[in-house]
Amino acid sequence: MNKIRYFDHSATTFVRDDVLREMIPYYITEYGNPSSLYGLGRRANKAKEKARQYVANAINCNPNEIYFTSCGSESDNLAIKGIAYANKYKGNHIITSKIEHPAVINTCRTLENEGFRVTYLNVDKDGIVDLNELINSITNTTILVTIMYANNEIGTIEPIEEIGKIAKMHNLIFHTDAVQAIGNIKVDVKKLNIDSLSMSAHKFYGPKGVGALYVKNGINFQKIQDGGHQEKDKRAGTENVAGIVGMGKAIQIAENNLDEYNKKLKYLREYLITEIENKIPNVQINGHRNKRLPGNVNVSFKDIDAEELLLNLDSIGICASAGSACSTGNPNPSHVLKAIGLQNEYSKGTLRITLGDENTKEDVNYLLRNLKYFVDKLRENKIN
Ligand SMILES: *Cc1c(COP(=O)(O)O)cnc(C)c1O
Repeated sequence: MNKIRYFDHSATTFVRDDVLREMIPYYITEYGNPSSLYGLGRRANKAKEKARQYVANAINCNPNEIYFTSCGSESDNLAIKGIAYANKYKGNHIITSKIEHPAVINTCRTLENEGFRVTYLNVDKDGIVDLNELINSITNTTILVTIMYANNEIGTIEPIEEIGKIAKMHNLIFHTDAVQAIGNIKVDVKKLNIDSLSMSAHKFYGPKGVGALYVKNGINFQKIQDGGHQEKDKRAGTENVAGIVGMGKAIQIAENNLDEYNKKLKYLREYLITEIENKIPNVQINGHRNKRLPGNVNVSFKDIDAEELLLNLDSIGICASAGSACSTGNPNPSHVLKAIGLQNEYSKGTLRITLGDENTKEDVNYLLRNLKYFVDKLRENKIN
């Protein structure tokens, strides 16, 4: 068996030892329901509130602006539907982009079926949203702009500060899906005029099944799940205390190591991109060259079937992703690759390599060697 070399950190990450260690007591001894009045419950509640403080510190907001959820997808649903329903009396128009995660795109589609009107903004060849089109799309019925912070496939970081300014100027609510950004780059919701933001713990070395939503005080949003009064009556259901504690620890570690982590990933990313471009002919790097997530390399190999390449890589222990983890089994180019206008002979051969904490230069060299070997082999097979 080959050692696993994991290059799919945008799909999910391992859980850090320190994170898991903090979580374990909340399953075994400190298992109280945080709504209970006795000590066991109060201690669970205290741990949950401590985690809320850590999450709030990371993005520079007040802890009472953080709502814990079950994942990034739920945070997007709660934010977009919740804001749309609560502000319907002002208008029914929402602006988003063509490259959002399905948690946003499909939420917008549902709202379209319910009578909302949605504009899907174009992006340029690097995946940057068209700000002029954003400004021109705004009407007196527009209530919400939802644009992702950083793209999960091609890694492009959007001009969030400009979008925040435009939204503020036009009195619109601005939500951002920051699931790929939190833990990877510094995010300050105050500085960037962000009204609402989604994140997910399993994208930054925390557990799966726990997310958070920030909504600025004063922004109206409706709950979308009925039940108890947890999370200031915005998200019913007994809280995932252990998961929340893990999320708090994970975000604390991420924030404390952000500069170092960024530096390491950027170095490996640039090395990987340069070596791929130097050693393998007919390749194209997708996404913005500099405004991109530190660990993201999205590369298209002309005349290659990405799934075939992935299976070959998997056979020697390499984990990577074809375009997007959400489109496994789907042979069509992803909506993101379509939106950046990638030619078909390239888009079919698109690999997403996302670097993370445990990757070393030796891992990257192993990846490079085998990438070249399999791409050459697959291209030869095609000719013969
Ligand atoms: C992973 C991801 C999500 C979904 O998060 P889950 O916690 O898996 O539901 C949403 N948006 C983006 C950009 C993501 O990368």
